[in-house]
Amino acid sequence: MTIRTLQQVIQSMPTSDGAGVKLRRSLGSQRGLYVDPFLMLDEFSTDNPDDYIAGFPSHPHRGFETVTYMLDGHLLHEDHLGNRGDLKSGGAQWMTAGRGIIHSEMPQQTEGRMRGFQLWVNLPANEKMKPAWYRDIEPHEIPQVTLADGGTAKIIAGSINVAGVVTDGVITGHTTDPQYIDVDLPNGSPFHYYIRDDYSAFIYLYEGKLLVGEPNIARPLATQCGGVLSAGDQITVTADNGPARFLLIAGKPIKEPVMQYGPFVMNTREEVEQAVRDYQNGTLTT
Ligand code: MN
Repeated sequence: MTIRTLQQVIQSMPTSDGAGVKLRRSLGSQRGLYVDPFLMLDEFSTDNPDDYIAGFPSHPHRGFETVTYMLDGHLLHEDHLGNRGDLKSGGAQWMTAGRGIIHSEMPQQTEGRMRGFQLWVNLPANEKMKPAWYRDIEPHEIPQVTLADGGTAKIIAGSINVAGVVTDGVITGHTTDPQYIDVDLPNGSPFHYYIRDDYSAFIYLYEGKLLVGEPNIARPLATQCGGVLSAGDQITVTADNGPARFLLIAGKPIKEPVMQYGPFVMNTREEVEQAVRDYQNGTLTT
């Protein structure tokens, strides 16, 4: 058994996207700063409507998946296929752009707190042009388990094994086998997660402090930082000096070239240029 260590810390950086939504970006904040198959992770967290009210009006995607998970707030998603998803606190949305999707993601509130995450998950070459797919996940559909040493975990994708009982999340069976787990730990509680040795894994800590790794040699991870983990078949973290809340994100690496231009993520420059032309010609999604 090999316990994973904290290999790299990715500090989240303030930025804005869409029509001026303020957010913090960890993965994807610099060119090439991704953890295969995960390309980007944004956290939006604000009580100020000016930071979110403009939303993300109509825009395209091709070649990957977006996962939006809301902690607080109310966001309406509408796409060119007529899907309409009303994301509320505790809900999530899994959207596979595939060949192409054109959608909007707009706040449905004019005051109060808006808080959540958007993760971009890459697709392998042979799935980049598959038909778009969409799944709206209501809060009550997300399995929540009590952890052996205290705390809770919500399993949005993948699965978790607690004392020999395996609980599956909502999304399973994708090629990259994504694991997306929201963990809430009380002070001093350890959390153990068993995983394939060769999967990529990182932690995004959105509240509190964590010690990552085996107790004697654990390294600290600070709030609003991403922690990329080394290879190994076990993840061990401990909430330090208070409770901690984090996302555990892991999956099977694709190991292919990544060519990104804005909302298009393909393998080659030619494929990206084709996506831009298709969008301009109105044929991105057909
Ligand atoms: Mn989008």
